[in-house]
Amino acid sequence: MTKFSYAEQLDDFKSTAYWLSKRGWSEAAGGNMSIRLDAQNTTLAKLHEDDHIKLPVAVPYLAGKAVLLTGSGTRAREIGMNAEPHIGLYKISDDGRHYGWIAGNHNPSMELPAHFAIHNALEQHRPEDKAILHTHPASLIALCHVPGFDNSKTISDKILSLQSEARLILPEGIGFVEHELPGSLELGLKSAEALVRHHLVLWQYHGLLATGETLAGAFDKLEVFEKSAGVYWKLRAAGIDPVDIGKAEIKEVLTAFGRLDRYSS
Ligand SMILES: [Zn+2]
Repeated sequence: MTKFSYAEQLDDFKSTAYWLSKRGWSEAAGGNMSIRLDAQNTTLAKLHEDDHIKLPVAVPYLAGKAVLLTGSGTRAREIGMNAEPHIGLYKISDDGRHYGWIAGNHNPSMELPAHFAIHNALEQHRPEDKAILHTHPASLIALCHVPGFDNSKTISDKILSLQSEARLILPEGIGFVEHELPGSLELGLKSAEALVRHHLVLWQYHGLLATGETLAGAFDKLEVFEKSAGVYWKLRAAGIDPVDIGKAEIKEVLTAFGRLDRYSS
């Protein structure tokens, strides 16, 4: 196997996968992760024309860049022990229409086109967010089965208003994509659209997509949302109908921290 040396990123994969597994959020081979690398990175090999694989949609903002992506069938609990065998390095051609394998794991997640489409949108709209993680936390999936929790606004207002710092960390709220075929390009494209405004997107009946400057940063946001959902389920289990903090109080918190402009009520 061709070796690659992205120690910092491999550590990010390893520690994030460890915690995803420990928290029970990525069962079996569920979930996947990727990190985008800059074209200027001089250690990147050149993509040979013979190795070009056509992408289903062009990703012009990724032209010449590379992505580290978890392999198909890889398990978080194994990546958490030793990341390198499970991560592949892929380079996007200079025309943004093809990609090729460069090093590491040679069998990419079936979500590769979706990850590329999302990275393309992030590079355009929020270039500092270089990491994407997808996982299946039960408390978040369960929200999709609550009547009326089928849109971004309702979920954001009802869940992020149960803990005073949640909306502060996620002023824009949670994006939402209705049920789509797992691994489909359609799911990736709709997520890319939702991620222009949100750092987290809930996939109906499936799981969560999170972005951040690092995988650990994406995990932070996931934890904040999961904590609030946990408060929701504790209240429901106790037979209490959740009463939220109140819009005025939420706005007061966001104003105090200068984030009100990111809030949409
Ligand atoms: Zn999934």
